[in-house]
This record gives sequence, structure tokens and C-alpha cells, in this order.
Amino acid sequence: MTFTKKQWIFFLLSTGGAVMIGAGIGIYQSEAISLTLCIIMCIVGCIMLAASGIFLHRKMRCSFCHRIYPLYCWWGMEHCPYCGEYLD
Ligand SMILES: [Zn+2]
Repeated sequence: MTFTKKQWIFFLLSTGGAVMIGAGIGIYQSEAISLTLCIIMCIVGCIMLAASGIFLHRKMRCSFCHRIYPLYCWWGMEHCPYCGEYLD
């Protein structure tokens, strides 16, 4: 798996989860959906956020020095900011 692909998976999981929770609560407040559906959307959102956290912890690491990459330099990053090792 390439680093760009990992970035996208993390990005989709984290924003998807946040959007799911936000949308669930937002739509519920406008009374368009039932409480059950709102809760389901929040739970799914939480699972996606948790999955993105696990993904970050397990996969977004340098294979050389095993440190988690800092979030701010992900985009356009070509080598590890800690040890200088080039990414896969
Ligand atoms: Zn490194």
C-alpha cells in the first residue's frame, strides 16, 4: 500500500466519521429523522473515528524508525521527517 493511499483511507475514515456524527445530530435536531436513526449514525461515526485512530496508530508509521508521522507534513511528504528514510 502506498503512503498516498494510506492518507486517503485515514482522511476518509476520520472525516467520514465526523460528518456522520454531525449529520446525524444535525438532521435529528431538524426533526427529519428518528432518535434511533440518529443514534445509529452517531455509533457508525464513532466506529469510523475509532478505526481511523487505530489505522493512524498501526499504519501511519515510519517502517524504519517506527515513529508516527506528524499530521501537519503528510501531504507532499516524500521521506520521514524524523530519520529521513524515504517512504514506500
Ligand atoms: Zn523514520
